[in-house]
Amino acid sequence: MTLEEKIGQMLQLDAREDLEHEVLGMHAGSILHASPERVVRARELTLRTRLRIPLIVGEDCIHGHSFWEGGTVFPTQLGMAATWDPELVERVARSTAAEVAATGIHWTFSPVLCISRDLRWGRVDETFGEDPFLIGELASAMVRGYQGDGLGDPTAILATAKHFAGYSETQGGRDASEADISRRKLRSWFLPPFERVAREGCRTFMLGYQTTDGVPITVNEWLLGDVLRGEWGYTGTLITDWDNVGRMVWEQKVQPDYAHAAAAAVKAGNDMVMTTPGFFQGALDAVAQGLITERDLDRAVARILLLKFEFGLFEDPRLPDAERIRTVIGSAAHTALNLETSRRSLVLLRNDDGVLPLAGGLTPDAAGRAFGNGSPRRIAVVGPLADDAQSQLGDWAGSSGQVDWLPDGQPRELITTVLDGLLAHVPADWAVDYAKGADILTLADDPEGAFFPDGQPRPQVVVPCEPDEAQIAAAVAAAEGADWVVAVVGDRVELVGEGRSTATLELIGGQRALLDALAATGTPLVVVLLASKPLVLPASVQDAALVWAANPGMQGGRAIAELLLGLIEPTGRLPISFARHVGQQPTYYNQIRGQHGNRYADLTQSPAHAFGEGLSYSTVEYAGVRIDDDVLTADGVVRAELVLRNTGTRPAHEVVQAYVRDTVTSVSWADKELKAYRHVDLAPGEEATVEITVPVSECTIVDAAGRRMVEAGAFELLVGPSSRDEALLGAGFWVLPAAERTED
Ligand code: BGC
Repeated sequence: MTLEEKIGQMLQLDAREDLEHEVLGMHAGSILHASPERVVRARELTLRTRLRIPLIVGEDCIHGHSFWEGGTVFPTQLGMAATWDPELVERVARSTAAEVAATGIHWTFSPVLCISRDLRWGRVDETFGEDPFLIGELASAMVRGYQGDGLGDPTAILATAKHFAGYSETQGGRDASEADISRRKLRSWFLPPFERVAREGCRTFMLGYQTTDGVPITVNEWLLGDVLRGEWGYTGTLITDWDNVGRMVWEQKVQPDYAHAAAAAVKAGNDMVMTTPGFFQGALDAVAQGLITERDLDRAVARILLLKFEFGLFEDPRLPDAERIRTVIGSAAHTALNLETSRRSLVLLRNDDGVLPLAGGLTPDAAGRAFGNGSPRRIAVVGPLADDAQSQLGDWAGSSGQVDWLPDGQPRELITTVLDGLLAHVPADWAVDYAKGADILTLADDPEGAFFPDGQPRPQVVVPCEPDEAQIAAAVAAAEGADWVVAVVGDRVELVGEGRSTATLELIGGQRALLDALAATGTPLVVVLLASKPLVLPASVQDAALVWAANPGMQGGRAIAELLLGLIEPTGRLPISFARHVGQQPTYYNQIRGQHGNRYADLTQSPAHAFGEGLSYSTVEYAGVRIDDDVLTADGVVRAELVLRNTGTRPAHEVVQAYVRDTVTSVSWADKELKAYRHVDLAPGEEATVEITVPVSECTIVDAAGRRMVEAGAFELLVGPSSRDEALLGAGFWVLPAAERTED
């Protein structure tokens, strides 16, 4: 290979640009954001190159094949996390891989292993929430699902663990800010999920946008070299994030030119450089100037070629397959799985007055429509998101902005909104009235200009809509004439994503005024918060029934309707805490024990809804947590038993959560951490004995020098339905020092 061909292999370029120049002129090794036509065109161009090295085609298929028209769009990753179900998430990833692989795409930039910290961050929806253990569980499942039986499997695609590591530790929720994070803090909470998937064989890792201790992560030799490649023995492929190499020059200004930036990126161990066309000349110059040698490039190029060989792309470039596209994309089986995932992702957060399920709960007929009970009822469905099909899909889907070939989003007929769902599922003699009630936002040009200095378009800025009296009056009229009002409120995609962090967590536009007016009618109110991330609701609805649906995907409206009508039971649990006020940030549950109590002068620090919370339509009692063998050595296993009893009249699906508290630690540590969970189904009146096990080796802290270890002494196992202290039952256990173990 010539030097130019080697440098080209390291480039992943944007297929929406000049594809001919990218493949023939720059010898690109990979492309992303290729429309279906461009995948085929890129192959034709590859066949005109000297070496005909197949391209690897990447795409952000992060909650389904969501940029393919008619692909199955699942709930967002945060919605999937609310299922707390790795087995389900693995099936979602498997189905996604089957759809993606059929279309000539080999690599998805998923899953996201960032830990949600500040809810103002625009990418909370892409995460599995706030807990490192749950993130590790779900990420591992997703990687297994994507990669299937290995690269020889024609339905396998490459998974990407991103964004390595600490990107979500923003300042003020601002995207891609300096991540002020110590190595110890990284090792304590941010790295463990990445370590797990690295050791389990996730084929690629993507770096984040952040800088830590002055060093952009792209050139952080400690993290990439010592930790990832060294300690964890990772042999997979590293890719930068979007133009990270160029940004070191033009945005972060930590490299004088592209030659130095290219040299630094190569020396730090990056294999593939995403969308920095200037890397091509930069790397040529770096070699000419002696900043790096051709051998330095060989290491990266060899890794990329090896991946292509292992994938078998030289024998079979895995082009779009018309027959598989016809049978696999949006198949009935995938649609059914999508509905199952949406149902499982819904979290019932409040139901104090027992408004839900409506009419005490109905039963479905064979077609899934509810049977009436002889008394016709009327539901007012209001709110700007009750019938907003594309918003329901969330970010990284259809017309959310990252690709240009689906300007109108996914086909409307493939998406069931809440209004559609209720119309299709209420008993035939019920009435459903709809009023939009409020608008959320309009867009205006960014005063700083339409483009960033690198030529990328700047997102427009959000202008909240004023409450509209006529819209509110129509919604109030509908509510007044109804037995119940279902208000579907939340956020739109313009408030979500990269560069779209929000300063507030409150509902935007006319939505608060709408809820105030609806609450004042006195009609029983159900708020469906269809929101990418936890938001803060106005005080007027603090007693209303509340369901959170993180963007619930194409089947979301049906799942929500079924839940409201009691055709299914609520089963989701929060993978992330809800704040009472934006000023409480951050609100994650596993904070480090500090001093001076837990109040602001003007507000409690406790969240509105804590990690792990989620109700059912029944009541479940937890009792008798017991650890028989409570003196353990470091290689032992904590075995606890408890008794659950469904004391209500409907089936319950419990997610029994077990947290560990290390009562005294040599350095400050989180007050408790999730270590295990069990899914338990209970019929009305049923009692079950549940066993929870936690290996003592998991009861670790990270000491002041950054070493993970079990410290001997007293611990508490806390078991219950959420992370709230008042919801947990405790049982103590004792871990013996290593010396005592040897004496034994
Ligand atoms: C995002 C990544 C994404 C990439 C490619 C970046 O801006 O941070 O998560 O995979 O773009 O679209």
